Amino acid sequence: MKHILLLIVFILYGSSSFANGGLLIEYGGDALTEKECRQIERMMDYQMEFYRMFGLKDSLKVRLTVFDERSEGVFYLDTIGISKYHPLKNVNALYMHNRKEAVILGMDKDRKRMLPVIYHELSHYFTREVTGVNPPIWFMEGLSEYFEHCEVGKKGIRHSMTAYEKGRIRTMYMLGEINLRKFVDADRTLFMKKQRTDEQYAYILAHAITTFMLENVSRQLLSDFITLLQDKTDRAKVSDKIARVYPGGFEAFETDFEKFCE
Ligand SMILES: [Zn+2]
Repeated sequence: MKHILLLIVFILYGSSSFANGGLLIEYGGDALTEKECRQIERMMDYQMEFYRMFGLKDSLKVRLTVFDERSEGVFYLDTIGISKYHPLKNVNALYMHNRKEAVILGMDKDRKRMLPVIYHELSHYFTREVTGVNPPIWFMEGLSEYFEHCEVGKKGIRHSMTAYEKGRIRTMYMLGEINLRKFVDADRTLFMKKQRTDEQYAYILAHAITTFMLENVSRQLLSDFITLLQDKTDRAKVSDKIARVYPGGFEAFETDFEKFCE
């Protein structure tokens, strides 16, 4: 009897799979290897442990659709009407919150390198679940970059910034290119413009600020900041929200972050 039940459950879920703690990942498109699925699920457990501190709910479901061939993925995005709104020329992955679906294009080009891209896109799902409204773009991309730069090893999960990223930040400070207040208040358009025109400025800086907030600032402070983001009625600038939770205000935040980057 037990075996029959198990079989039914297996048929029902097909290629879906529960990571620990109530996340159902519905796999679609081309199959990932069992090892890849295991790594993704371990990473999702790790992310959930983090996001739970900020009110992530218990029962979660997200779709992960992977295409080995880029052209097939583009065709899929055409059929669901995404390419009309979203130029896909340089895109190799994206997350759509209205569908709760991450789509990965061209997995076969470099499967090892694309795995962290999956961690990145799925982190967008959690961030949007936790913040409810549109979170500041640097914070959303920063969190995703943080988890993208985590390595799932035998002993555990480790985050690091690359030497290139660290060097790039130091150069930005040396050249006086960083206006932190303007950056944290930027909307998506300005953020993407910075990204295109200035050698990945935006993603690297977002990654660094988020790393600072995750590794150098108390969880309570981070939680207070996220609570302010969750309040839809509070239309204050993001820099003002940081100022409200950070001891010493935004100036102290700026100084401490610069020290962290040295
Ligand atoms: Zn992203």
